Amino acid sequence: MKTVRLKFLEQIPEKLEDGVLYISMEYGTVLHNCCCGCGSEVNTPLSPASWKMEYNGETVTLDPSIGNWSFPCKSHYWIKNNKVIWCKKWSQSEVNIHRKEEAQDMQIHYSEKKKKGMFARLWNWVR
Ligand SMILES: [Zn+2]
Repeated sequence: MKTVRLKFLEQIPEKLEDGVLYISMEYGTVLHNCCCGCGSEVNTPLSPASWKMEYNGETVTLDPSIGNWSFPCKSHYWIKNNKVIWCKKWSQSEVNIHRKEEAQDMQIHYSEKKKKGMFARLWNWVR
């Protein structure tokens, strides 16, 4: 089973190595090269509306799964305790449904934040 290594960094490196999960608490985000080996950079920002990361001192779990439907490979997998667990590829209609839900979640989340006057800096960063 494929596993990933962890690197905790303040700055995001320019070039990512395959099989490494780059975790930046500074930016509140996790980056890695797509686990299929296609070389696409995957950015999973940590926030209540997107991903949450569990770190037990040795391994990391990212929740929810990572769906790279914007890349040609369209790979879909979980990272659980540093292990890459492959999921079935999504059909275009499944992707569309998920995207819609995700966009709604984001909208709700960030409009609530705005109201409180706390616009997340990671959101600025990922854009
Ligand atoms: Zn890929």
